[in-house]
Amino acid sequence: MNKADVKKVLIIGSGPAGYTAAIYGSRAGLSPTLISGLEPGGQLTITTDVENYPGFEKPIQGPWLMEQMKNQASAFGTEIINDYVMSVNLKSFPFEIKTEKKNYYSYSIIIATGAKAKWLGVPGEKEFMGFGVSACATCDGFFFKSKEVAVIGGGNTAVEEAVFLSNLCKKVYLIHRRDKLRAEKILQKRLEEKKNISIIWDSQVKKILGDDKNKCVDKIELLNSKTNDYQSLNVEGLFVAIGHSPATELFKSNLKMDDEGYIITNSDSTKTSIEGVFAAGDVTDKIYRQAVTAAGMGCMSAIEAESFLNSKKLI
Ligand code: NAP
Repeated sequence: MNKADVKKVLIIGSGPAGYTAAIYGSRAGLSPTLISGLEPGGQLTITTDVENYPGFEKPIQGPWLMEQMKNQASAFGTEIINDYVMSVNLKSFPFEIKTEKKNYYSYSIIIATGAKAKWLGVPGEKEFMGFGVSACATCDGFFFKSKEVAVIGGGNTAVEEAVFLSNLCKKVYLIHRRDKLRAEKILQKRLEEKKNISIIWDSQVKKILGDDKNKCVDKIELLNSKTNDYQSLNVEGLFVAIGHSPATELFKSNLKMDDEGYIITNSDSTKTSIEGVFAAGDVTDKIYRQAVTAAGMGCMSAIEAESFLNSKKLI
């Protein structure tokens, strides 16, 4: 390994956290390299209108927003590489990162690999994704103002999303596969207080139907697992809230993670259990999961990486 080839900062992931880390890292003179991964742009590339990212009066498109972030990072000098990380050795220093095409060495790593919403895998789901099917009520709920919608799941997210949507929508159905919610009692109480939420127990969505030409959902088909009866429900929006999985497989044997695989960072920091390795965005955040919070963490990670490199006299 030639010392001159060792990167100061290598960023893995190209969502809001990764690109923001790249923008701050570039402007701090760290000449970051960003490996964009299999889905460049991350989760925002599968949404359509974005109305809650600060700075835009009119709705913007998720893929467009990610393109702007990419261009900004690139304009400041980030080397953006379309490649996929296969393995990472965090025991060596500099750290070693193997991609499909090449081996890299870096004095610091920012992990911004994000998380993926779990999906039902039923007919109609892919076809209407972004056109009635969503995994984020905070992001997309507003488009269903005064309409009838359904939320799938029985955990904290599903209940919180149902309560959030009940303030916007005419009617919210919470559809759960069992007869008991997993969500915390306090959230269940909030749910019960909402007059326009009905819970449909023991039911699974089997099909999502809609108008293919106008790209909108109009009904879903449910199967009751106790009675084996099918039911058809007219809804215009379907919010799938059956959990997220963080993309942390690469770091499993190295970094401290919680039971669900989210990377644990120091409080108010992006520092992980290994010095010089930082985590930002949904890969470490199971509470907020917003583009703007991920971007905020990306900014923190670049500032912390710079301070680490300074303290080790590597810059
Ligand atoms: P979760 O707790 O894993 O709940 C997922 C729900 O989806 C469960 O009710 C599960 O049913 C259901 N489900 C899973 N796969 C399904 C499928 N294929 N079809 C139908 N239903 C399915 O996920 P989460 O609600 O997103 O929460 C994730 C973590 O974030 C949790 O630790 C949660 O406490 C935390 N969180 C906290 C807050 C808060 O503190 N305010 C808010 C949101 C999330 P079963 O119950 O039958 O397994």
